[in-house]
Amino acid sequence: MIMRPLHVNYVSDDETATIYDAVVIGAGPAGATAAHELALRGRRVLLLDRAWRVKPCGGAVPPQLLVDFDVPESLLVAHIDTARIISPKSRTVDIPVGNGFVGMVDRDVFDEWLRVRAVSAGAERRTGTFTKYERGDDNISTITYTDGRSRQGEARQIRTRMLIGADGALSPVARQCIPRADEGKHVFAYHEIIKSPELEGDGFGAHRCDVYYQSPLSPDFYAWVFPHGATTSIGTGSLQRGFGLRDAVAQLRATTGLDRAETIRREGAPIPLKPLPQWDNGRDVIVAGDAAGVVAPASGEGIFYAMTGGRLAAEAVEEALATGNAKALASARKRFMRAHGSVFAVLDIMQSFWYRNDDRRERFVAICRDRDVQELTFDGYMHKQLVRARLFAHVRIFFKNLAHLTGFASA
Ligand SMILES: Cc1cc2nc3c(=O)[nH]c(=O)nc-3n(C[C@H](O)[C@H](O)[C@H](O)COP(=O)(O)OP(=O)(O)OC[C@H]3O[C@@H](n4cnc5c(N)ncnc54)[C@H](O)[C@@H]3O)c2cc1C
Repeated sequence: MIMRPLHVNYVSDDETATIYDAVVIGAGPAGATAAHELALRGRRVLLLDRAWRVKPCGGAVPPQLLVDFDVPESLLVAHIDTARIISPKSRTVDIPVGNGFVGMVDRDVFDEWLRVRAVSAGAERRTGTFTKYERGDDNISTITYTDGRSRQGEARQIRTRMLIGADGALSPVARQCIPRADEGKHVFAYHEIIKSPELEGDGFGAHRCDVYYQSPLSPDFYAWVFPHGATTSIGTGSLQRGFGLRDAVAQLRATTGLDRAETIRREGAPIPLKPLPQWDNGRDVIVAGDAAGVVAPASGEGIFYAMTGGRLAAEAVEEALATGNAKALASARKRFMRAHGSVFAVLDIMQSFWYRNDDRRERFVAICRDRDVQELTFDGYMHKQLVRARLFAHVRIFFKNLAHLTGFASA
C-alpha cells in the first residue's frame, strides 16, 4: 500500500501572534480548576477541550471539595448518608457517614459550571483536540490542535509559554512530553446510567451508596450502585483487560432488580492507578489530575484530587512564570505527595492486600463492622488526611487486622 504524505493545511489567522502564558489541554475538573486559578492571577490562559461527551463517572465527592474549591452545594444532586458494603457471601455492613455526607454530582453540569467559572475569571475557551507540542528556540512552544468547530477538523496552531496537560487518563500531552508516562496501570471501568426507581429496597437506596466486593462482579476492584437523584450510576471496574464488565453490570442489575429500570447511557473509561513518577518536563509542560495518574487507589476517587492537582499545577506554573525558573514546576508533585502521599500509600496497600481474593474480601468487610475502622475511613475521606490525634484507634485497628489475618477473629 502506498502511503500518501498527509497534507496538513494550517489555518492562518492571527492566532499565532498571541502568546499565551498558559494553554490548558482538557477542561475536566483538573483543567478547569487550573485555568480558573491562573486567570484569577491575571494570566492569559486558554482552555482547550475536544468536548464530545460527558465524562463517565460515579460522581461521588467529599464535602471538603465544596469548601476547598468554593463550589456551591446546589450542584449536588444527592446527599449520601450511608455506605453499604456487601461481602462475597452477601453479608452487608452499613457504614453511616456520621455528621457529614457524601455528595453526588452530575458531571455534565458540574464540569460545565467549573468551565464557566474559569471563563468568568478571564480564561479563553476553545473547542479542539490537542495533537502536537513543539518547543521553539525562543522558549515559546507551538501547540497544534484540530479545530472542533470546522467539519474538516482543520489543524490550528497556538503559541504559549507553559502547557498544562489535564487531558485525562492515557493523556496525549503526558505521552508526548513526560518521561515514563506510558508505564502506568489502569482499572477499566464501565457503568450504566439508569432512571432511579421510585421505591427503595435492598438493592437501592436514594441516599445510600452500595459497594459490592464480589468476584463475579469484579475480581480485583469493586462494583457499585450510586444514586444521583433522578438517575443512578451502576457500574464496575477491573484491572483485567478481558474481564466482562458489561456482563457484570447486567448481573448486578438483575440481582438488585435494577434491570427493570430504563437505561439512559452506557459508557466506560480507564481509571489510572498510580501517580506518575514525574509530572513535568523540567521546562514548560506539567500534567494534572488523571493525566498525572492521580486517582486514589482502592476507591477510584479522582475528582477532588484532580482539582487539587489542577490548583497545584497552576501555582507551580505561576511561580515558574514569575521567577523564570522552570524548576518550580516540580513543586506541584512534591506538595501533592506531602499532603496526600500517605493516604494514597495506605489505600494502595489496602487494594493490593484486601482486594486480592474473596476470602480476604470477606475478612475486609468483617473488619469494616468495627466502629474505629468506620470512623477512620470516613475521617480520611471527608477531611482528606489521616487524623494523627486518633493514634490509639490506628493501633487498635492494627491489632484487629492482625487478628483477622492470623485467623484469631472469624470473618
Ligand atoms: C466509571 C468511572 C467512575 C468514576 N467514579 C468516580 C467517583 O464516583 N468519584 C470520583 O471522585 N472519581 C470517580 N472517577 C474518577 C474521575 O472521573 C476522574 O478521576 C476525574 O474525572 C479526573 O478529572 P480530570 O480533569 O483529570 O480528567 P477528565 O475528567 O477525564 O477530563 C479530561 C478532559 O480532557 C479532554 N481531552 C482528552 N484528550 C484531549 C485532547 N487530545 N485534546 C483536548 N481535550 C482532550 C476530555 O474531553 C476531558 O474533558 C470515576 C471514573 C470512571 C471512569
